[in-house]
Amino acid sequence: MRAVVMRNNTLVVESIPDPIPGPGEVLVKTLACGICGTDLHALQFAGILGAGSRSSGGVFAIDPNRDIVMGHEFCAEILDYGPGTRKRFKPGTRVCSMPKLKRATGDEAIGYSSENPGGFGEMMRLSESLLLEVPNGLSPEMAALTEPMAVGYHAVAKARLGWRDVPLVIGCGPVGLSVIAALKIKGAGPIVAVDLSVRRRELAIKMGADMVIDPTDKSPYEAFGPGGPARRFLARILNPARHAVIFECVGRPGLIDDIMSNAPRHARIIVLGLCMERDNIYPVSAIYKELDLHFVLGYTGDEFASTLRNISRGKLPVQPLITGKVGVGGVAEAFVELRSPQHHAKILVEPWRS
Ligand SMILES: [Zn+2]
Repeated sequence: MRAVVMRNNTLVVESIPDPIPGPGEVLVKTLACGICGTDLHALQFAGILGAGSRSSGGVFAIDPNRDIVMGHEFCAEILDYGPGTRKRFKPGTRVCSMPKLKRATGDEAIGYSSENPGGFGEMMRLSESLLLEVPNGLSPEMAALTEPMAVGYHAVAKARLGWRDVPLVIGCGPVGLSVIAALKIKGAGPIVAVDLSVRRRELAIKMGADMVIDPTDKSPYEAFGPGGPARRFLARILNPARHAVIFECVGRPGLIDDIMSNAPRHARIIVLGLCMERDNIYPVSAIYKELDLHFVLGYTGDEFASTLRNISRGKLPVQPLITGKVGVGGVAEAFVELRSPQHHAKILVEPWRS
């Protein structure tokens, strides 16, 4: 099959052996697969990402010296079954799955492993037990957004929002946008979102933000103080009984400390941004203000399934997030384009596209 192979920090299109489904596994044709910010990090920092996963018991098996076919945000179509399967769905059925394989020896990553090619190739193998049928009529590209949207859904669940909590979303890339959409479903608000890019601030509004802030124009934290220009929108925040819940969706060194020094008392900070460098914090301000710092990753199987359902029922407005589509030949260029946030949110790879 044709696939985009990550090799020595570059992406090349290669012909590689078709995956063979093992016991309990299915062979699928990849219909659409999103490019994730983590994929951009992996291309640049494969070694750090792999070492971090190994030292913390994660499932990513990234060896920078071996070829990897990335892609973990996919919708696919069943082609064939491996041994020991129940064959619950007919070939041709469209499915989504969490990007991992359930093996007797433990879970294995799909897309962040040299053994298990991901959705930047024409075919994959998936675990039959993790398959979710795409509800009738939902397009593969919308279904492929299940994975990234589940990330925000999980973060908002972990934030355990109370009715008096007010969310602030820092960074409106795909991760921040998925948080905004999940907050909207929860009925939390007003939702304040911050991003440097005009385009991303527009998308934040489409996903349900009540107010967007350009941080070069004014500090997002003014929203939490009296006399701030956001007062009209945020009158309820000025009630000291309400607590800020700040979602860090950027992953830049220094940002957690910046949030900690500007956050109001008793704020909760939920960190989704994947910072690949060593970072510094100044704990004193956090202690004085009794801040709560909480790191989150991924989602549960139930959260993943709920997200697919929410997309199919039109509760998550994912269509505006899809800003481009490429075949395997366009992936390397798409990675470059995604580094400039002015143009794109999610670029989908359709590996069979010529
Ligand atoms: Zn991802």
